[in-house]
Amino acid sequence: MDLKDKFKILSSSAKFDVASEPSISTTLMNLEKNNTPGGIYYSRASNGGCAPLLKVLFSNSCIYDCAYCINRRSNNIPRATFKMEELISLTLNLYKRKLIRGLFLSSAVFGSPNTTMTMLYLTAKKLREEHNFPGYIHLKIIPGADLEIIRKAGFYADRMSVNLELPSEKSLTYLAPDKNKSSILTPMNYVGKKYQESKEQKNKYKNSPIFIPGGQSTQLVIGASPESDFHIIKLVEKLYSNFHLTRVYYSAFQRVNEDPRLPNITNPSLLREHRLYQADWLIRCYGFSSSDILNEEEKFLDEELDPKTKWALRNYHMFPIEINTAPYELLIKVPGIGLKSAKKIVTSRKKSSLNFDNLKNIGVVLKRAKYFITCNGKYYGKIYNNPEIVKKLITSKKQTNSLQLSLFDN
Ligand code: SF4
Repeated sequence: MDLKDKFKILSSSAKFDVASEPSISTTLMNLEKNNTPGGIYYSRASNGGCAPLLKVLFSNSCIYDCAYCINRRSNNIPRATFKMEELISLTLNLYKRKLIRGLFLSSAVFGSPNTTMTMLYLTAKKLREEHNFPGYIHLKIIPGADLEIIRKAGFYADRMSVNLELPSEKSLTYLAPDKNKSSILTPMNYVGKKYQESKEQKNKYKNSPIFIPGGQSTQLVIGASPESDFHIIKLVEKLYSNFHLTRVYYSAFQRVNEDPRLPNITNPSLLREHRLYQADWLIRCYGFSSSDILNEEEKFLDEELDPKTKWALRNYHMFPIEINTAPYELLIKVPGIGLKSAKKIVTSRKKSSLNFDNLKNIGVVLKRAKYFITCNGKYYGKIYNNPEIVKKLITSKKQTNSLQLSLFDN
């Protein structure tokens, strides 16, 4: 098989791994249309910028048989495996032509977890040591691989990720019988600790080598198994606090295999995926807990309202808050006020008190925020004391588009 065909197979097999970007966003973009090779995807950085990455599998020949995966061993699909030198020269070539800024390298499990992890590790090592590759490298951790190989790989990668895949051990056993909870959580725990240790060492000793400077992430498939959103966000809350995860990515289940264990879904639930990303932001950056967002009585995120607005309406007795005096921690809980705009409010109001026009200039989304704030005691919403009416106003047709499309204000 020539390299072009191999590349086509291995880049297309990699597209179901979204651990670089939510699939609802428009940024996961194949550049084939612009006369550049397929397999190049835009990954959004935490600072809001976008970086094109070569996203491929080392191999799509898998010894495992996960029900939801196109590459499972029981599927009759074209198979390919890179030679290490092929992948290295492809990466260097695209990098030199400024078509990519880095490599996102994953793989099906070929031979054994150790064989596969070793190939990923050696690819990164050779790129860095023999070719001085300065670009970004994201490496997948293969569940079941020795921790020592993972440790060595972590000194060449910017970020690593081990996919949790399913939100419970029961579903993992049912849909991915070759994997187990321990083969995923053990490396996640190890990498989280090494990452923390490395940060502490770096603070003490300037020349200390850095282990995955971009931290570790994971991916969850949503909708292949019956767990509720409440179950998922409780799990995610624990992952962030116990394993030092930088990000959790959610991937709405797409049925690519005929398998009686899988739900009969025709379209992936992108809205559910989107709502989970919003809830994740609230937990990670806005000081919310999973129980602020959902509970045993209400286990699924609202389709009509984003979770922050939903929380604000549930706690309507806490509003309106005065924009010129409210603490930062409360400002960021107002629908329509993001982290950046809250910071700007706190800085600007030190100079002079703020009115509604000032808030507009700061970037506050007033069509939502106006129901929850006062400026110098003045309230601009139409109804002051009834959350049901406020909900209707916010979800009215005129406003629905902006609500559905914006992930967050900033
Ligand atoms: S281990 Fe499972 S999810 Fe990963 S490539 Fe193999 S079959 Fe697919």
